[in-house]
Amino acid sequence: MSTSSYADGAAYVRGRFVPIAEATIPVTDWGFTRSDVVYDVVHVVKNGFFRLDDHLDRFEHSMQQRRIRPPEDRAAIEAILHRCVALSGLSDAYVAMVASRGRPRVAGSRRPADCDNHLIAYALPWIDVIPKDVQERGAHIWLASTPRVPDASVDPTVKNYQWSDLTSGLLEAHDEGFDTAVLFDAQGFLTEGPGFNVFIVKDGKVSTPDRGSLHGITRKSVLELCAELGIEAAVEPIPGTDIEHADEVFLATTAGGVMPASRIGGRILGNDRPGPISLKLKQAYWARHDEGWHRTPVRPLEAAE
Ligand code: PLP
Repeated sequence: MSTSSYADGAAYVRGRFVPIAEATIPVTDWGFTRSDVVYDVVHVVKNGFFRLDDHLDRFEHSMQQRRIRPPEDRAAIEAILHRCVALSGLSDAYVAMVASRGRPRVAGSRRPADCDNHLIAYALPWIDVIPKDVQERGAHIWLASTPRVPDASVDPTVKNYQWSDLTSGLLEAHDEGFDTAVLFDAQGFLTEGPGFNVFIVKDGKVSTPDRGSLHGITRKSVLELCAELGIEAAVEPIPGTDIEHADEVFLATTAGGVMPASRIGGRILGNDRPGPISLKLKQAYWARHDEGWHRTPVRPLEAAE
């Protein structure tokens, strides 16, 4: 089989593997009309998935919480992810798994139980949510005035497509000439940003919010690295003023890794470059990838058949 048409990415949708350009869903899918979707994203570096089991565990948690049950079981989902990457021929990839509520079998029904849930998966060329050159100089982060949606309304530990507040944060940031934004909850505590967890460093201690945030897999890696490197770290409430007075700030996500900041709101951090602890963690994160940390080799096409 020729795989050339898959070079821009490979997808699985409605039970078939197709080139990414052909991966479409009906406009009446509740995944589209209601954002009634849960998803997860895992990365592939040098032909190996990173923490694939952790991503599959979180995806299962999200599906369970939203009661979205596609026909494919965990083993099938895993095999589909391998096949998407193998078909694409990409050695570094952004790999998404999406479970959508789907379309109601009964015309006009408003009952979620009437919908046929389905799985979508795709592999795309590597994506950095903060471009590499911006990561190098340190991201400029806007402190958004839009509050993060309350945890009791949209559970942030269920990875979802409710991005209105995060997108408002991005619009604010770009209007002000910043790269991205972090959001606070209605009580003024730090939460997260559009596609990443946030960390602050103060007097050598690393902290990340205990609320309003996805339990990020990169966040988990950062906390493990802190333990290995003897850096004090905590998941705790972070009042808004703490980020304004932080020594360093960095962001963490699957699509980019550890991404240092150099400006917070109107304030320049240190010498306007990524700080030393952020850089140490970034370096350790990628060095551990090279050592095979939490790596699952991508199954070649023949094995993925
Ligand atoms: N927070 C949000 C809202 C996200 O969308 C993401 C990832 O896309 C993260 C945090 C980081 O999570 P992870 O490290 O598992 O990619």
